[in-house]
Amino acid sequence: MSKEIYLVIGGSGFLGRHIVDQLLARNDSVAIFDIVQRYHDVPFYSGDISEEAQVSQAIQRSGATCIFHVASPPHGIEDPALYWKVNVDGTRAVINAAISNSVRKLVFTSSAGVVFNGEDLVNADERLPPPEKPMDAYNESKAKGEELVLGSNGKGGLLTVALRPSGIFGPGDRQVMHGLYQVYERNQTHFQIGNNNNLFDWTYVGNVAYAHLLAADKLVPVPSPPPIPSSIIDYPLPPI
Ligand code: NAD
Repeated sequence: MSKEIYLVIGGSGFLGRHIVDQLLARNDSVAIFDIVQRYHDVPFYSGDISEEAQVSQAIQRSGATCIFHVASPPHGIEDPALYWKVNVDGTRAVINAAISNSVRKLVFTSSAGVVFNGEDLVNADERLPPPEKPMDAYNESKAKGEELVLGSNGKGGLLTVALRPSGIFGPGDRQVMHGLYQVYERNQTHFQIGNNNNLFDWTYVGNVAYAHLLAADKLVPVPSPPPIPSSIIDYPLPPI
């Protein structure tokens, strides 16, 4: 089978860059599509995912056969319309562009927050549906984007998968440490919420990126069952 050509949508961001780095480390061919350019070491296509034609053009120019769709506005901004535009309409545009350009694989970065309802989640897995009342506009839009991606699996030969990372930490992070530092700067560190036994899942960014590569590598068509040998079909049934 020929080698994949990868397009990382949102590849200028924190997680996206780690995905690019890991692809480069194994000598894979990779390009970035993003609204901002931060790196100049791989082919870069400037564009907005809510513009299907721009995504389509980047797929054609890069020759992409596998897309990592990592792009999203960050969590915590007060702009529900932007979340919907990028995470729902934009994801739909990515799917349509992928199918019309015969892309074989689409790996979507969702979020663990899509199933969070404010209560503790214990032993939750992918069978847990999103809550009827989403936590916020970000998680609502991520859940809808994920639904679109999974619903398009198999359409036009496209194979899809969605991953739900929880909190991500590591080099290049622009959100988590910034937020923690702001708490320190505002002299808010002497407040304690709860009994100090609160748990939250964090994953190192390199491991989240690696999970994306594995998801793409393992995303193969389900093999059809082997044909039943004619000797078995023809075998006379015993009398009842
Ligand atoms: P990030 O902000 O560092 O990267 C996102 C990238 O997407 C940025 O480079 C941004 O320019 C790009 N982008 C945004 N809107 C775009 C658009 N309309 N068109 C093209 N590109 C666009 O964020 P991150 O922390 O690397 O998060 C990556 C993904 O992981 C996101 O989908 C996010 O929802 C998900 N996620 C992140 C965390 C976390 O803790 N950081 C946790 C769970 C899920």
